[in-house]
Amino acid sequence: MHDNQALTMGRVTRVLAERLRPAVYADPHPLAIAAHAVDGEPIPAAQGLNAEYAPVDVGDHWGRAWGTTWLRLTGEVPAAFAGRRVEIVADLGFDVNMPGFQAEGLVYTPDGEAVRSLNPRAQWIPVSPKAEGGERIEYYVEAASNPVLLDYHPFLPTEEGDVLTSSDEELYRIRRADVCVFEEEVFELVHDVEVLHQLATELPEDSARRARILRALDNALNRVDLQDIPATAAAAREALQEVLASPAEPSAHRISAVGHAHIDSAWLWPLRETVRKVSRTSSSMATLLDEDEDFVYAMSSAQQFAWMKQDRPEVFARVKKAVADGRFVPIGGMWVEPDAVLPSGESFIRQISQGQRFFREEFGIECRGAWLPDSFGYSGALPQLLTGAGFEWFLTQKISWNQVNRFPHHTFLWEGNDGSRIFTHFPPMDTYNAQLSGEEVARAARQFKEKSVARHSLAPTGWGDGGGGTTREMLARAKRMADLEGSPRVVFESPNEFFDKAMAELPEPGVWRGELYLELHRGTFTTQHRTKQGNRTSERLLAEAELWAAAAAVRTGRAYPYDELDELWREVLLLQFHDILPGTSIAWVHREAEERYARVATALRRIIAESLAALGVTAGADGLDAGPVGAELALNAAPVARRGVPAGSVAVAEPAAPSSARAEGNAFVLESASVRVAIDDRGLVRSLVDRTTGREAIAPGRAGNALQLHQDFPNMWDAWDVDEHYFAMREDLDGPAEVSVDGDAVVVRRAFGASSIEQRLALADDGRLLVIDCDVDWQEEEKFLKLAFPVEVFTDEVVAETQFGHHRRANHENTSWEAARFETHAQRWFLVQEPGFGVAFLNESSHGFDVGRESGGREVVQNARFSLLRAPKFPDPRADRGRHRMRFGVLVGASPASATEAGWAMQSPLRTASGADVRALARSQDPAVIVSAVKLADDRSGDLVVRMYESAGSRVSTSIELAGVPAGSVVAADLIERPGAEIEAVRMPDGTVHVPVTLRPFEVKTLRVKS
Ligand SMILES: [Zn+2]
Repeated sequence: MHDNQALTMGRVTRVLAERLRPAVYADPHPLAIAAHAVDGEPIPAAQGLNAEYAPVDVGDHWGRAWGTTWLRLTGEVPAAFAGRRVEIVADLGFDVNMPGFQAEGLVYTPDGEAVRSLNPRAQWIPVSPKAEGGERIEYYVEAASNPVLLDYHPFLPTEEGDVLTSSDEELYRIRRADVCVFEEEVFELVHDVEVLHQLATELPEDSARRARILRALDNALNRVDLQDIPATAAAAREALQEVLASPAEPSAHRISAVGHAHIDSAWLWPLRETVRKVSRTSSSMATLLDEDEDFVYAMSSAQQFAWMKQDRPEVFARVKKAVADGRFVPIGGMWVEPDAVLPSGESFIRQISQGQRFFREEFGIECRGAWLPDSFGYSGALPQLLTGAGFEWFLTQKISWNQVNRFPHHTFLWEGNDGSRIFTHFPPMDTYNAQLSGEEVARAARQFKEKSVARHSLAPTGWGDGGGGTTREMLARAKRMADLEGSPRVVFESPNEFFDKAMAELPEPGVWRGELYLELHRGTFTTQHRTKQGNRTSERLLAEAELWAAAAAVRTGRAYPYDELDELWREVLLLQFHDILPGTSIAWVHREAEERYARVATALRRIIAESLAALGVTAGADGLDAGPVGAELALNAAPVARRGVPAGSVAVAEPAAPSSARAEGNAFVLESASVRVAIDDRGLVRSLVDRTTGREAIAPGRAGNALQLHQDFPNMWDAWDVDEHYFAMREDLDGPAEVSVDGDAVVVRRAFGASSIEQRLALADDGRLLVIDCDVDWQEEEKFLKLAFPVEVFTDEVVAETQFGHHRRANHENTSWEAARFETHAQRWFLVQEPGFGVAFLNESSHGFDVGRESGGREVVQNARFSLLRAPKFPDPRADRGRHRMRFGVLVGASPASATEAGWAMQSPLRTASGADVRALARSQDPAVIVSAVKLADDRSGDLVVRMYESAGSRVSTSIELAGVPAGSVVAADLIERPGAEIEAVRMPDGTVHVPVTLRPFEVKTLRVKS
């Protein structure tokens, strides 16, 4: 036979695009359109529906950036439509290639019921499944004119990302608003043809199945009268029946499609727009669930449900019913989908406890798995925190974005720092916005790494970010691929159904040990420093507010501020969202984040002051950030003892170790009993000696406190990425500086470019820590500022603090995996160490760093560099410009234990206090075990909750001393405070209670003390 396959493929492509798809909507009749442009921020629906409307026409412009325009569509169903399925097609000026990143609408009935969303990929409004003709049509559209920021030429700087700087230009043009007949048979034909065409594209060119499909498609198109497609669609479909009915092979890959919309809680739009995006998408999804009984939809983030409940209660009511039916499935069990490397360990726990609590209270369910498809790397602490909170599985796909290395698994056990393991799946389709195209499903089957032993994978299916979620077109494709020869099988089901099958078919999965480092987006450990500082400050103040509020409640009966603390936690958890805390949102979002953090800090400082007042304590006048303590009584909110003041207590402090600063010729010296620092007249640290051993830390001929400025223009994703080529161009800011002695500090002032920096170097705490306070006026563009300390330490690894412990990363480039980690992150410190000597580098508000291995003759020099500031121009054209105050520390003679202690102390310095002593409510008897949270239980029973972790990586048996706590009984609890086995506590003669605890390396433990 002659082979006409190429001709058939070309024929199908053209007929489908130019004739079949346009024929789905027939006989358009224009509707009358009227508009009301809202002045300023969005208005309530009732107000929008009753506003003054003025007529507008197709072709008219509408919508300045970030504006809202209410549109009214009126008309009637033509008599000729009687008995037909009728829909409105409304095109607000959409670009079909950008669902979620442009204009969107929510459609209302005149009485205010939300019908569904209008999106580039779903421009329709249902009118009637069986029209009578003559029916009146009246719909309202709350249309948001969100500007396109990620355009065809992406990453160009734009001022449209903040309502304060955006233009007044009207961005969109109404293209159509027609009432039409929806030709159901043509719709079905389109999907028959499309699915077979896409399948044929994926099949081997010489396969019999492909040849048969193309022959059938040719036959089908031979039956289509292009002048009367609706009349001939059924006959054409007949010709495809046989190839569509041929069943899948027994070994076919099986895809669990999960209806989904990945809605970023803020990103290229402000938080308030996400509130509306969620309601729009959810209204469409509730409607789609009504229309198709096979469909299952899953949505993460308790915050997004909470927004819906508040913003669109009628949509929430529909969702709640669908949740009860098991078809609208809450997933992820967290408050938002947070960044997964930067938040504290306690924050991760609260993401889960607040999320699960919301789902339990609203829907009576708890999620079984964690869903973080889009965070920029995953801390090795997570497996313990997820399993410790009761999760059975974890899902992400982001590691498929690695620039260099392909991850070896899709279904595996992820082992965390402490050895905890969680069943994990990476969808092999490599997307969280699947469309279920033939190409995508084939890719999933082809790429699936476990294909020799397993055959199930998951596909989160739908347009995210306000693009409208899953579409009926995706459902139509799935139905055809349920059991289709040559194709993976596709079925809609919930994530839990998928994971049950995946766990059953793979009882012995492979294991990945340690963090999931993303080989991309390495700038997110540093970008938007003020947002990161706000998070760190909030985490510290939340811990302290809970500590003193719990003490006041237990000891004085003062009411514990449950509601307010919940609200403040939820605010901070929201801002940990994976485009806010990483610094990758528009200017508006970061401006608002800084304002919100300021309000959080004010509220927490008030709670702290009031709780302390109840305990008879007044903390230092300025509240909380005072410097060295001169008075005898000191308040220690840190979870480590400082100068004789136990963790979490107010007591008399031992005198601070004396230190001095002086000029010596052209140089300057900082000195204490432990450390001697020599600073030259350019402000560079030439010598840093541990006086107890005489050991010099700075490498010969090198200098510390060296500011280095790099050109920083990544290939794409400006706020996200720092590309390896940034190393190549470096300017050392080691020229003349103004250096002087000020009290016990040496002050270095330096100007560079349009910027300036003042550094204050002093020895703190016991005189062992070199503290560098930086006050920067940062006015550079596309630059990366580093602060370097080249030290002579013989090691090939860097220890970095992570949540609840630390981990080690190889510090060489032997393989592509290590080479790709040229910029990494820590919680409060990182450390280079050889036996007997180490140097730790501490931060108070930032996370990024690198340690370069550099040749120093026979020795290898570890060039340890803090990442201070970046200056990307997209999506915020002025990211990080302006004033920053940041604190760093260099600890000589450090170990993980002393770095941990110094890191906590730098985060929560001692403060002056007056009034009464306050004994710690809960205190560990072993310094390796750190009591990191003390609070009252979320269930408001009045139980005291004490959280601790083993910080050294050792096995510890010790006890927790409870003082001034009317301890009835003590039980072990899981991380979200669900009680477990009782622990036999020992009542001591002095009235304290000692609770014996045994911890594994890096184990996190929670106790509940019943009153
Ligand atoms: Zn995202």
